[in-house]
Amino acid sequence: MDSVDVKRPQAFDLQADGFRGAQPVLVDPFGREISYLRVSVTDRCDFRCVYCMAEHMSFLPKADLLTLEELDRLCSAFIARGVRKLRLTGGEPLVRRGIMTLFATLSRHLASGALEELTLTTNGSQLAKHAAELAAHGVRRINVSLDTLDPDKFRAITRWGNLDNVLAGIDAAQAAGLKIKINTVALRDVNEDEIPALMQWAHGRGMDLTLIEVMPLGEIGEGRLDQYLPLSLLRARLAERFSLKALDYRTGGPARYVRVAETGGRLGFITPLTHNFCESCNRVRVTCTGTLYMCLGQEDAADLRKPLRASESNDLLHAAIEEAIARKPKGHDFIIDRRHQRPALARHMNVTGG
Ligand code: SAM
Repeated sequence: MDSVDVKRPQAFDLQADGFRGAQPVLVDPFGREISYLRVSVTDRCDFRCVYCMAEHMSFLPKADLLTLEELDRLCSAFIARGVRKLRLTGGEPLVRRGIMTLFATLSRHLASGALEELTLTTNGSQLAKHAAELAAHGVRRINVSLDTLDPDKFRAITRWGNLDNVLAGIDAAQAAGLKIKINTVALRDVNEDEIPALMQWAHGRGMDLTLIEVMPLGEIGEGRLDQYLPLSLLRARLAERFSLKALDYRTGGPARYVRVAETGGRLGFITPLTHNFCESCNRVRVTCTGTLYMCLGQEDAADLRKPLRASESNDLLHAAIEEAIARKPKGHDFIIDRRHQRPALARHMNVTGG
């Protein structure tokens, strides 16, 4: 925690965070305790991945975004209600100006023991700059999204990205002692043949690799069926070359893991389409404008910005959170096939946060 000189803003105190003694934890109507919060800190990104965004996106006006102080207040209110794991995401979280201040202030919940894990999902482009400071703020594990190790393919998938920057970011993060999980979206005809090589590379560097099925979120200007590669198929193909042994290991997320005997590494599968993972869902998501989505795959949402801004006390905020969690649905039902090529949801992944 001490390798970087970090100024910790004193603007927040526990009283203001809503720590007024024990508050009931959040439990949804299906008895699932909400212990995992993912917060999108910006809808902006320095990449334009073909499955995530259209090339020309319009972004939210800055005034609509929660300020860093509001984000802190909101996260802290959830932590006061039993959230133990907090992931900052986006858009690209590391392009949000001043984002390290938010990591700095939130790290007090790690120090107090209220929070077990503070982490982020990043495309890695800015990681070389920020890795040491993230580690200094108590971040221990991060997810880096990377779909290919081929520079040209990387440029084609991300439209704007540069593979060398991401690889330098991964080097810096490992040098800072961060554990990395690589997330790879499996894309038909694009990276499907490269998955064994990606896995061997990741495992060779001591990183887990998780494969993700492309989800029908947002209008992207291309057909989803062209991109969609069922992981059941990919897993069967990998099983012809590698011995995969199912593991009980869980990270609190929807991934199911296997141990690959040949590499010794862990390989995860996130299969929202071929296998519904909702029954154990312990998470909710908040967008950068303070909209709470109780399910990634449903439209129902609650506005938390209004109660946040309506008063300095957190009472309205807590009431709005409770009311929303009482409506958390049982699950979602994504379908991609020839009859369902339209997005299941209009919002893009960069809005809800991946
Ligand atoms: N910019 C950060 C990053 O690249 O990791 C965080 C946000 S990004 C939206 C989070 C993850 O969502 C990335 O791994 C990305 O590949 C994934 N993603 C985006 N759109 C997706 C989609 N339609 N289906 C599946 N995964 C998607």
